Amino acid sequence: MSVTATPSRYVKLRRDLHQIPETGFQEFKTQQYLLDYISTLPQEHIEIRTWKTGVLVNVRGTQPQKRLGYRADMDGLPIQEDTGYDFRSKHPGYMHACGHDLHMAIGLGILTHFASHPVQDHLTFIFQPAEEGPGGAKPMLESEELKDWMPDEIFALHIAPEYPVGTIATKPGILFANTSELFIDLTGKGGHAAFPHNANDMVIAACQLVGQLQTVIARNVNPLDSAVITIGKIDGGTKQNIIAEKARLEGTIRTLSADTMTLVKSRIEALVHGLETAFACQAHIDYGSNYLQVYNEEKITSEFMQWVRETQQSYHIDLIECKEAMTGEDFGYFLESIPGFMFWLGVGTPYGLHHAKIEPDERSIDLAIGLMTRYLTWKSNR
Ligand SMILES: [Zn+2]
Ligand SMILES: [Zn+2]
Repeated sequence: MSVTATPSRYVKLRRDLHQIPETGFQEFKTQQYLLDYISTLPQEHIEIRTWKTGVLVNVRGTQPQKRLGYRADMDGLPIQEDTGYDFRSKHPGYMHACGHDLHMAIGLGILTHFASHPVQDHLTFIFQPAEEGPGGAKPMLESEELKDWMPDEIFALHIAPEYPVGTIATKPGILFANTSELFIDLTGKGGHAAFPHNANDMVIAACQLVGQLQTVIARNVNPLDSAVITIGKIDGGTKQNIIAEKARLEGTIRTLSADTMTLVKSRIEALVHGLETAFACQAHIDYGSNYLQVYNEEKITSEFMQWVRETQQSYHIDLIECKEAMTGEDFGYFLESIPGFMFWLGVGTPYGLHHAKIEPDERSIDLAIGLMTRYLTWKSNR
C-alpha cells in the first residue's frame, strides 16, 4: 500500500458516505449524515428542508435577481463491493458504484463555501434521493417543499470513469438518452418434457421474442437515429425435464428522442401481441421506471463551456465537447422545466459506472468544488 496524503475535508465526507450506501427512498442514514453535516455550517444565511429522504437547502442571496440550483443524487446500488478500500461499504450487498457519494460530497463542499459567502442570487441545493430508481427527480419537482425554492437555472455533474481527473465533458443539446425499463411476463402451459403437444412452452416463446425485439432496432428505427433494446435477464421454467409454463424477460430501452421511445414501445407491444396469438399464451408488459432525456439548454451550456475554456485552465481544468451517451439520468426531469446543464467529471478509473471495483480518483472532488464555486459566483454576478 502506498502512503497517501491526508484526505481533505470533503474526501473524508465522501468516504463516510461511501460506507452507508442505501437504495432509492431508503436513504435514511445518508439523509441524517447530510443534515448533521449541514448543521455544523454557519446558519445565518441558510434554511434547510427535507423531502422524503432528500434534503433541500436555501442560501439566501444578498441582492437576489434570480435563483440558481445545484443538484446531487444520493442513492447507492444493490452491488456487492469489490474494491480495495479500507472504507468499504458497511451495508453488505450495497455499494456507491455510481459515484453518488462523490456527488454529495461535492454538493456539500459547494454549499459550505456559499453558507459563509452568499452571493447576490438565491441558491437552492438539492440532494435528491432515488436516482437509480424508482426516480426521485419527478416527484421532488412536484413537491411543496421545492415550490418556493424552485431554481431559474440548474446544474449538476456526473462522474465519468473514462476521463482523467481535470477533464470535464459536456455538450449543448441532448447529453443522455431517454430510457425505459422493460419487463415482459409470458404465461403458457407447463407439462412433461416428452409431451410438448400437450403443453405450451414459454422458453421457446421467450427465445423467439428476444430475437424479434432486435428487429425493432434494425427495421423500425431510422438508421440515422439511435436506439437500443437490451434484454439483460431471462427467467423461465423450473427444471430441465419440465416444459416451462412461465418466462420473464427483463431489459431496458434507450432512445435519443422521445418520439423514438414511443415508436419502439408501440413496436414491442405489436410483437408481443403477435406472440400471444402465435403461441396461444398470455403476455404482460411493464415499463417500470422511465427517464426523460437529459437535454442541456444550448445557450447556457455554450456559455459555460466558453467560460471554462477561457478561465479555468489555470485551475488545471480542461473541457472537451463529448458525444451524447445512451445512459439515463433522472436529472432530465429538472432540465425539462428548468434550463441548465449536466456535465461529466473525469475521475479516471479503469472500471465503469455500476462496477463492483470502481474506485474514482478522489482528487476530482476538490477540483469540482472549486469549479462550481467559481462558476456559481460568476453566474450570480451577471
Ligand atoms: Zn447509476
Ligand atoms: Zn449515477
